[in-house]
Amino acid sequence: MELRKDPITRSWVIAGHRQEACETTGGCPFCPDKTNSKIALLRLPSEGPSQVVVLPHPDPLYRIEGDPDRRADGIYDQMQPVGADEIVIETPEHNCKFEDLTEDQIVLVMEAWRRRVEDLKRDLRFKYVSIYKNYGPLAGQEGSHSNSQITATTFMPRRVLYELRAAREWFKEKERCVFCDIVKQEERRGNRIVDTQGEYVALCPYASRVPYEVWVLSRRHNHMFEQPRPGTNRKHLAALLRRILRRIRQIAPAYHLVVHSSPNTAHSKGENSLQYWKTIADDYHWHIEILPIVETRSKSYNIKEVYYNAILPEEAAERLRNLDPIA
Ligand SMILES: [Zn+2]
Ligand SMILES: [Zn+2]
Ligand SMILES: [Zn+2]
Repeated sequence: MELRKDPITRSWVIAGHRQEACETTGGCPFCPDKTNSKIALLRLPSEGPSQVVVLPHPDPLYRIEGDPDRRADGIYDQMQPVGADEIVIETPEHNCKFEDLTEDQIVLVMEAWRRRVEDLKRDLRFKYVSIYKNYGPLAGQEGSHSNSQITATTFMPRRVLYELRAAREWFKEKERCVFCDIVKQEERRGNRIVDTQGEYVALCPYASRVPYEVWVLSRRHNHMFEQPRPGTNRKHLAALLRRILRRIRQIAPAYHLVVHSSPNTAHSKGENSLQYWKTIADDYHWHIEILPIVETRSKSYNIKEVYYNAILPEEAAERLRNLDPIA
């Protein structure tokens, strides 16, 4: 496998084969008795089976060893897929879903995300650490055991790069954070708000790309997910996330969840340098995006050039608000 850069859009593409992780021989590789070579293990104070385990991906897209070895191929750019590819096993119980975990257990999963991001950002080769979760076969979930994934890359994922550039431009012009502006206006209008808890707000974004798209943001400005502001209560975030996902599962069989947060600003050169992102602490704002996959409306995923969303975000928010959040 190698990374190739599209010379027009400047986005990196992973090219080459990857073997599908299979569960057929020896059962689920993420059940407690199968998980050797742990990167991290977190337990609730009550101990017992409530724990979160982080493992290296059994068939990684990115390899931790070596140098990206960036080089030219004629006019093109390529590099080795150096990075980290880790699996966060959210529960020891094979059949338990993320949104069925207790709030404390979800806080523990988020603590595992936080610690891995903090640790991987110490490696200056990495420009960005992604946290994401694919739920359901339609979303490409790996294995049936509830898990999320952490990847560290030597390049910026395209969507995050767009967000960072746009947020920086907004700040330059208005000296305000675009995400704080969004939260304020949405809370004033109310028609796209789905639910709130403590400092956290869940809303259907104005230009939702897919039906029932939901963003979860904090009202308090912070650019880094892994460094919560003093007084932050992640239990409120866990409770809100749980209620949102329990609503979404009543209308969609699958979803993608992604945490968008600040890149590795310790990185010393290129787009990530402190010089380039010098206002990042003020202009960027971490958030969670949830993109449900509604089977019958999957058209919006096929036409990737322009998103077509058949359901207005205001209607989506209203429907989500009216669904039972504990069903
Ligand atoms: Zn399992
Ligand atoms: Zn903000
Ligand atoms: Zn985002």
